[in-house]
This record gives sequence, structure tokens and C-alpha cells, in this order.
Amino acid sequence: MLGVYGGTFDPVHFGHLRTALEVKELFELDEIRLIPCFIPAHRDEPSAAAVMRVKMLELALAGRSGMTLDTREIDRGGPSYMVDTLASLRETMVAEMPLLLFIGGDAFEHLCQWHRWHALFDYAHVVVMTRPGAGHSELSEVLKNRYTDSVQKLKDTACGSLFFQRVTLLDISATAIRQMVAEGRSPGFLLPDAVISYIDQNQLYRR
Ligand code: ATP
Repeated sequence: MLGVYGGTFDPVHFGHLRTALEVKELFELDEIRLIPCFIPAHRDEPSAAAVMRVKMLELALAGRSGMTLDTREIDRGGPSYMVDTLASLRETMVAEMPLLLFIGGDAFEHLCQWHRWHALFDYAHVVVMTRPGAGHSELSEVLKNRYTDSVQKLKDTACGSLFFQRVTLLDISATAIRQMVAEGRSPGFLLPDAVISYIDQNQLYRR
């Protein structure tokens, strides 16, 4: 099974990395791909240039087997719609192979505003990573029909289901990290040291 984890990664931090590793192990994925967006469809433009966000991901993932960087959204240019990304991934996959799209609970709350969101399920299962004990807002009829609590179903079918998975959500956000750096404080222990060095060397996120 292949997993996809999209984001701005501005910068990548241990909140992303811990959950990516955790779901890779939980779902016994062959690979989880971190896919940085080029122009986010639903939020402000990233602060760091795409090449720099890519470099930080490379540094963070160095030496990690099965956790990889996929730059197709940046290579494609334009607004980064996840549905296009999943469609292009599908083109090179065996049709029966399950594809899992991982999103955070915060992102899930806005799923219905994503470009062609219904079509996401034509290409992948959607797995929402939730905080232990956290609920989610009432599911719409469409999502209720997609919902499953069976991991086996995710493994036995290529796409089409909605699943909720509890993970260790560290209370870390890229926004808070950018703020800290801008104020001259250290973001130490919130993201890999190699990424912090890169931020320092390139004077990213300073005022
Ligand atoms: P920002 O603070 O700039 O909004 P962010 O830290 O939320 O950034 P994104 O790159 O926008 O990071 O998020 C990409 C994905 O990672 C989303 O699905 C989001 O829900 C998830 N995510 C973000 N922070 C965490 C965290 N601390 N733990 C687990 N998942 C996270």
C-alpha cells in the first residue's frame, strides 16, 4: 500500500514526521510520500520558496526508508489540487493497489471545500488522523456512506472509503515555528536539527 501525506511543510516539523512514521507502521505501508504543495489551494502562499521547502524535507527524511519526498505538485506548478495529484499517482500504479490519503483532523473539517473533493475517493481512501478521544463534526450523508472502521477493507479495495485513525498528535505548528524564528527564539526540539540549521543558514522566516 502507498500512503500520501500532503502539506505546505513551511517548514516540515516533528508533528508531520511523527504522524507520517506512525501511520506508515500502523497500516504497514510500503511507502509514505510527503508531497509539498506549490500554490496551496485553500490558504495563504507559503513563506519559504518551494525549492527551500523541498530542501528542508530532504534533510528531514535523509536516511529514512519508506518515507519519501514527491515533488510532483511543485513540478506541475499552478494551484496544487490533491485530486490532480492522486490522479497522476494512479496513472503509474497497479489498479488494485490501495492508495491512502492521510489528512489531519483540521484539514478534514474543510474537506468539502477542496477542489472536486468527491473525486478524491475515485483514486484513494481518505484516512483522517485524529487526536485520541477527539470527535469530528457530524458526517454528511456522502461521507457516512464512505465511512468504514475496517482496516481490512482499506487493504482489500483500491479506493473509496473514509477511515479515522488515532495518532500521536504533537502540538506543533509551522505557524508557531515561523513566529518563533521571526522573534529570534529557538525552535529547538520542534523539528530536526538539520532543518533548523538550514533555516539559520538561509535566514528563513526572519522579520
Ligand atoms: P501551518 O501552521 O503553516 O498551517 P502546519 O504545521 O499545520 O502548517 P501543514 O503543512 O499545513 O502544517 O500541514 C500538512 C498536514 O499535516 C495537514 O494534514 C495537517 O493537518 C497535518 N499536521 C499539521 N501539524 C500537525 C501536527 N502537529 N501533528 C500532526 N499532523 C499535523
